[in-house]
Order: sequence, then structure tokens, then C-alpha cells
Amino acid sequence: MIPRVALPWRNGLRLRVPSGSRGCSSSSHNTLRNDDGRPIVISPPLVSLDIPDDWAPSPAHSCFSSPISSSNEQTATVIDGKFIADEIRTRIGSEVRRMKEGIGMVPGLAVIVVGHRRDSQTYVRNKMMACAEVGIKSMVAQLPEDCTKDQLLGALSSFDADPSVHGILVQLPLPQHLDEGKVLDVLRPEKDVDGFHPLNMGNLAMRGREPLFIPCTPKGCIEMLLRSGVEIAGKKATVIGRSNIVGLPTSLLLQRHHATVSIVHAFTKNPELITCEADIVVTAAGVPNLVRGNWLKPGAVVIDVGTNPVEDPSSEHGYRLTGDVCYEEAVRVASAITPVPGGVGPMTIAMLLSNTLDSAKRVYAFT
Ligand code: NAD
Repeated sequence: MIPRVALPWRNGLRLRVPSGSRGCSSSSHNTLRNDDGRPIVISPPLVSLDIPDDWAPSPAHSCFSSPISSSNEQTATVIDGKFIADEIRTRIGSEVRRMKEGIGMVPGLAVIVVGHRRDSQTYVRNKMMACAEVGIKSMVAQLPEDCTKDQLLGALSSFDADPSVHGILVQLPLPQHLDEGKVLDVLRPEKDVDGFHPLNMGNLAMRGREPLFIPCTPKGCIEMLLRSGVEIAGKKATVIGRSNIVGLPTSLLLQRHHATVSIVHAFTKNPELITCEADIVVTAAGVPNLVRGNWLKPGAVVIDVGTNPVEDPSSEHGYRLTGDVCYEEAVRVASAITPVPGGVGPMTIAMLLSNTLDSAKRVYAFT
């Protein structure tokens, strides 16, 4: 049986500004201002970007540094994303209560959803429930499948003007007649809790810059690695997938943490040769069982973002969710792996709540 444990973590939840951190005091070129001209105070993300460039490898052993044999008996440690996310959510809940008691305000999240895709409806419902659980106010604008760009922009600007809304997200994908890029451009970076605005993404890409928000799924992946005691600096990492929402920002974040990053995508020849060199593999291709056991270096840490419905007549809805990794093979080779479901998914929602809380703290200068 595969051990499913929550790992001891070295990095506690960092909801406050660590002393000496650059996180709160952005440099002048990065200072954004509210409409009334007050500078926006940048609270640090859970995943800190404040990592010195001149690092020395830590003598401390990582949890996963022991040599791994490739015998059939070997099973990886399962990184329990749900457990880690629950911990984070509990801390966010207490921060929201502290804010309410201290200044009588709570964070607010607005979600715009277009059409009635079943998966989008489920994701939105889960986000709303998670908000309610931690005391974040949430609201949804449900627009018809054939809504016009102006209707969508109208919903965006009314949430934008609402001071009780600190984060706005547009549930993707949008129907084809709506240009996602143009819509995201209109969303102000100060409320872009998904971190997809070009200004936030650009600041993530540039050393010495701080985005206001880091995209939730990539942030959740790094947070899981850190909290599981996985050393990132100096390690080889392969990211499979280069989408704007997962692959690209994940590779940027890993670089900010001083990994040497290779990116594999649909046009990459012999992807297994690149993947099998990696100490850390993050896969977000959307292809079930793409990564086989023999793609992995023994002892690699595997973060499986893939969430793919596959037919399964024995399950209640006729399908089940599976990752990009052939789990049964990978657990015999990897030292640690995230399950699907129960790995990255819960972390994504926890990071959304965290970004929304950070945004409200920034607006109210609440520390
Ligand atoms: P996408 O379709 O936008 O991007 C997929 C990427 O994978 C592309 O860059 C493509 O080049 C690459 N790719 C496709 N086939 C490949 C192959 N055979 N070999 C190598 N690379 C290949 O998808 P996305 O939005 O980035 O999502 C990827 C997966 O992650 C999906 O399964 C999605 O459901 C899942 N996802 C999960 C969460 C979560 O919270 N758990 C969040 C977002 C996405």
C-alpha cells in the first residue's frame, strides 16, 4: 500500500511580512497606486520571491535526498495536497476573522462565468464554497454563452468599481467569440487575483520585480514543494506544458527559486530524454498517462497538475479524473508524488483565497 502522509514542512505559513523582506516595500518602479494616489502596500505572497541570488546549497538534507532504488517494492511518498491546503485555509480563516474584528472588513472575491460548461460551473461552485468557509465574501456574475464582449466588460467594470471586491477572476476558458487576452487586459492588476494580467506575469518574469499576485496553480505547486521540504535551488526541473496559466508561470517561479528549468511542450522531440534528467517534474499537459515510469529519474519529485476526465463505467458519473502521470508506474520510481485528485487541485483554491486575502490586506493596509 502506498503511504499517504502529510510531510513535515520547514516553511511555515508566511502571511506576515518577514523582517527585512523586500515583499512589502516594493522598489519605486514597481509601486502601484490606488485611484486616490495612495501607494498600494504589497503583502508578501505565501511563496516568497525574495530569494538571494548568491545562494549556497544548504547542508540540511531534504526529506527526499535519500537514494531511491528502482525495485518494484519502492513506493513514493504521497504529497497530500488536501491536507496542506486545509492547513492553509484554516490560517486564512483566522486571518479573515482578525481583519473583521480589527477593522470591520472582510475580503471579497467576484467571479465572472460565461456559459454553462459543467467543469466551469463545478470549479466556480467549489471556489464559492471555499470562500464561505473562511469568511471571504463572494459573488458571481453568470453571463449567457452568447454574451457580448461589452456585457462581459460591463460586469468587469462594475466589480472593479465595487470597493468591497478585492479580487476578480474570469473563469476560463471563455467561449471562442470572446478574446481572453483582451478581457484580461481590461482587468486591473490590483484585483487580478489569478495573476494573469501581463503586468503581473511580466513582473514575475523579471528579477527584482514583484507581481501583485502569482497565478494560483503554479503558486500551489511551489508551496507544496516548499512545505514538503523539497530543495529547489540548484535542482534540475522539467515543466511539461507552457500554457499562460500553468506551465509558463510555473517555470518562471521555479527559476525564481533557482532551479535549472527545462520546458517540454507538444512540439518537443523525445520529451522523455529531457524529463528523465529532472530532479523535479511538474506536468501540466492535459494528456492522461503521458509520463511513464521510465520517463522519471529515480528519486524525482513529481507534481502532477493534469486533471483529465477518463471514461470509467464503474464510477458514479461514468468517468474519473486522472493526472498526466502514469501513477502506478511513477510511485515505484519517484521519491514523492502528488495524487490526482487530492494534490494540486485543493492547493489552487487555497492559493486563490490567499491572494484574495493579500489583496484586501493591501487595500486596507492591514498587517
Ligand atoms: P493547455 O492546453 O492550455 O496547455 C497544455 C500544454 O501542454 C501546452 O503548452 C502543450 O504544448 C503541452 N502539451 C500538450 N500535449 C503534450 C504532449 N503530448 N507532450 C508534451 N507537452 C504537451 O492546458 P492547461 O490549461 O495548462 O492545463 C493543463 C492540465 O492541467 C489540464 O489537464 C488541466 O485540466 C490541468 N489544470 C489543473 C489545475 C488544477 O488546479 N489542478 C489548474 C489548471 C489546469
